[in-house]
Amino acid sequence: MVYLARTRQELKAAREKMSGSVALVMTMGALHEGHMALVREAKARCKHVIVSIYVNPLQFGPGEDYEAYPRTLEADLALLEAEGVSLVFAPSDSDVYPREPLVRIDPGPVATCFEGRTRPTHFAGVLQIVCKVLLLTRPDVAIFGQKDAQQLALITTMVSDLNIPVEIVPVPIQREATGLALSSRNVYLSAEERQQAHALSYALREAAELFAGGADVSAVRSRLIAQLEASEGVRLDYAELVDPRTFLPAAHGDHAALAIVAAWVGTTRLIDNWLCEREEEA
Ligand code: AMP
Repeated sequence: MVYLARTRQELKAAREKMSGSVALVMTMGALHEGHMALVREAKARCKHVIVSIYVNPLQFGPGEDYEAYPRTLEADLALLEAEGVSLVFAPSDSDVYPREPLVRIDPGPVATCFEGRTRPTHFAGVLQIVCKVLLLTRPDVAIFGQKDAQQLALITTMVSDLNIPVEIVPVPIQREATGLALSSRNVYLSAEERQQAHALSYALREAAELFAGGADVSAVRSRLIAQLEASEGVRLDYAELVDPRTFLPAAHGDHAALAIVAAWVGTTRLIDNWLCEREEEA
């Protein structure tokens, strides 16, 4: 049976009963196969798995979809139970933030570009909740998806810079057969928008093929942007090739780069990315 802890106190009591290794999977709920891949990785690595479900208000900016974000706790619990998860932490806002936090985590320069440029307070909010839940759950490993590549880079840096004793494990992006990256926000898309949303993964895959075939970083970037700008129903926020760790723009001669994209399809903002690597030379 999955045990649902609704407060920090309940979590603490349940955590104290756990002996052996513990893996944490943090989510905002509305679970899909992308989240489940993280849960399976957690199960493969540790004796116990804790899943947190919390729509963190601190990481949403004004005018974003905090209120509309899908909340499906009963269905989420059924999926986690079927996967053999023992503990779910789904706290209330007043339990997580009994008052406005005075001490904040400064995520540094990587949080000011790309996602951070469009969503200036986003990563500070993410790191605040990730740090809190890591301290509350004290896991040996914490699993995060490469879907949110910039978030993953920032969490890895935070854990290193603050000496938080946890191993961060990335899991590759889970996609529909069509290539569309799974996301809780895909439920916002109409049937037509869902078709249009495929442009993101098509353009990224093509960029990776060009890069593998030897095209220069700037040529790949130009093609990626042109492809997305020509896609019906897609309004591009950014498309770039970056170093996956630093998120600095990839440079001429780099052997690997992360192609990253954010775009609106209708009113839904989607992100996706694809690792580009040079083909091995014979
Ligand atoms: P979220 O509930 O959107 O905050 O995501 C919770 C975790 O699941 C994050 O580490 C995400 O990167 C990860 N995740 C979400 N969608 C996917 C996906 N399609 N493939 C892999 N990981 C994902």
